[in-house]
Amino acid sequence: MPLAPWAAHEEHSRGRCHPQPPHPYRGEFQRDRDRIIHSTAFRRLVYKTQVFINHEEGDLYRTRLTHSLEVAQVVRTAARALALNEQLAEAIALAHDLGHTPFGHAGQDALNACMQPWGGFEHNLQSLRVVDELERKYAAFPGLNLCWETREGILKHCSRRDALQLGSLGRRFLERRQPGLEAQLVNLCDEIAYNHHDIDDGLRSGLIAERELAEVGLFGEHYDAVCAIFPGLSGRVRIHETVRRMIDTVVGDLVVTTRERVAGSAPDSIDAVREAGRPLAAFSPAMAARHQELKRFLRERLYYHPQVRERTERAQCMLTAVFERFMEAPDLMPAEHAARAIGATGEAADVSRARAVADYVAGMTDRYALSTYRRLVDPRAEL
Ligand code: MG
Repeated sequence: MPLAPWAAHEEHSRGRCHPQPPHPYRGEFQRDRDRIIHSTAFRRLVYKTQVFINHEEGDLYRTRLTHSLEVAQVVRTAARALALNEQLAEAIALAHDLGHTPFGHAGQDALNACMQPWGGFEHNLQSLRVVDELERKYAAFPGLNLCWETREGILKHCSRRDALQLGSLGRRFLERRQPGLEAQLVNLCDEIAYNHHDIDDGLRSGLIAERELAEVGLFGEHYDAVCAIFPGLSGRVRIHETVRRMIDTVVGDLVVTTRERVAGSAPDSIDAVREAGRPLAAFSPAMAARHQELKRFLRERLYYHPQVRERTERAQCMLTAVFERFMEAPDLMPAEHAARAIGATGEAADVSRARAVADYVAGMTDRYALSTYRRLVDPRAEL
């Protein structure tokens, strides 16, 4: 199927920071996806927590890697149905969480608190730093040298202060414009993926109960239907059948609503999508409300569950201690990180030391962060 006129077309790409000749048989967004998959940060996602601490709580829970793959799979379906650029959407989805710290959102909050005097820490901005600067794969330049549109999609939110430092990529946050539709879709498919897999993981963990979830609109209606059609189903299959139907309904709603909004605003190009004044990718108001209800339920019952919070708090203390130890003694870090931390002089020295430490700590996997804490602080520590 040919791409819609408002999709991201490679031939109109704003290009790469460091110009490179075209590849004989791979497209530009395909190359971006390949670079992301081959990156070190991508491989580390397998050992980073989504909600449950990866290696401690069981092998079946989602990690940042499986989450990123699920987002990519969902967004490819939606992008293809809407005649958008599937390869760009996939590349953005695979990269969207590269900047996450160990220990999930707990880690991000701890590192952000540590970095307050030096500009803070934000995982989304860190994903962009990973692909723009931190990956070292090319002799001629730092980073992965991705296309402008891929980078636009990775940076989904940004403070005014950070936007001012980011040149053409930051401008849309100052001028309140939208990104392209592929990026908008990834954002919503990220929500679809985590809402649904957190239900599955939450039930598996026993922290939330099936009968509680059956009270939540979106889950409840599919759950009742599944129980009526297949009265004798066993627990796990009943949940899988329900979640599968939910995802299909939500993605269907996203595709139909987005199609209507695109038809209503009739953009003639990706730039017209950016200028549209509101996102064109969206759920219907009814679906958005039910999705919100589900999110609220998960936040209260799962993310803030005492058992999850207890680990979260221990993880935050560990990460904070590791950060502080490296700030005092940067030479305890591997040579290339230590060199960045110690190298700068003058007024900016503190800022670049803190940023080098934050980059190093953010790149750690859950178990590497734990073993670092044991090495530096307490050899007998447990999460
Ligand atoms: Mg995500």
